[in-house]
Amino acid sequence: MGTFLLFFSSTFAVRDAHAKEPDVYQERMKLYKKVETITQIPWYYLAAIDQYERSIRQVRRDLPKAESVIAIYISPEKWAGLTNPNPTDQNPATIQLFNGLGVDGDGDGKADSNNDEDVLYTFAHYLLSYGLDHDNLKIGLWNYYHRDKTVGIIAGKAKVYRHFGRLNLDDQAFPMPIRANHSYRSTWGDARGWGGRRIHEGTDIFAGYGVPVRATKYGIVEMKGWNKFGGWRIGIRDINNTYHYFAHLNGFAKDLSVGQVVEPGMVIGSVGSSGYGPPGTSGKFPPHLHYGMYKDNGITEWSFDPYPHLAMWERQERIKIRKRR
Ligand SMILES: [Zn+2]
Repeated sequence: MGTFLLFFSSTFAVRDAHAKEPDVYQERMKLYKKVETITQIPWYYLAAIDQYERSIRQVRRDLPKAESVIAIYISPEKWAGLTNPNPTDQNPATIQLFNGLGVDGDGDGKADSNNDEDVLYTFAHYLLSYGLDHDNLKIGLWNYYHRDKTVGIIAGKAKVYRHFGRLNLDDQAFPMPIRANHSYRSTWGDARGWGGRRIHEGTDIFAGYGVPVRATKYGIVEMKGWNKFGGWRIGIRDINNTYHYFAHLNGFAKDLSVGQVVEPGMVIGSVGSSGYGPPGTSGKFPPHLHYGMYKDNGITEWSFDPYPHLAMWERQERIKIRKRR
């Protein structure tokens, strides 16, 4: 009875949390569509920029926490203009005089960096000065961020949002069908491993040859190919800037290509033991999936332990299956 109650209350809490989500997504989408109407910049680019900034602000200590519906952060110097004696200037005319980016989006006569509509419109207004097609938008993004990787990540997100036509892309899947016989334990940071790096940057999930390997998140295939240590491997960037690395595969799913949009549970390849030699080398260690997770914060990227996530995703899937019965 005790376990039943615990189970019941925890699923109830999950459902409650989900009930709150659509509101903020709806509110966000409304703002993206509104600014799209004014600027003609497609909503999925605005969503991609906003989500990129939300993700970096979650892991950056030098940026204020994102507390509004829109997470784009424009520094006071950029907003008001570098030489503006008033860094909190809200007057569109003087901001323009000092070459600040801030403009009034909601029509109240103020360019307020704490107003969601003003912030989103300001970014769109800036991009618009470069032009509307994909290449021009990318040039505008490069001139804002000065980082190729950031431009690539944002373009990838835009493609994902466009593909699904919605903002709620929070699901996840365990990288193998959970009914498949598999085992893994926390080995992140160990000296040994077949991941091809000096310390073990991932979790090894042992399973038989040919067991399907699945995308864990909504995202885009950023890398696919051979590496001496990782063997046949795939890298997927999700919408939270996290890079998911799948190594030692037996092979890739048919037609899987770089730039392709994936969703959780989609088969991308199968378990193997490839690596540690020229392309095609395999069998130098027992078959397993090396699964790595890397976080990009807009400046640098680092590895973190995927084990707690894997354990949680597996647990969530088992609960889902139990509920379906
Ligand atoms: Zn490994």
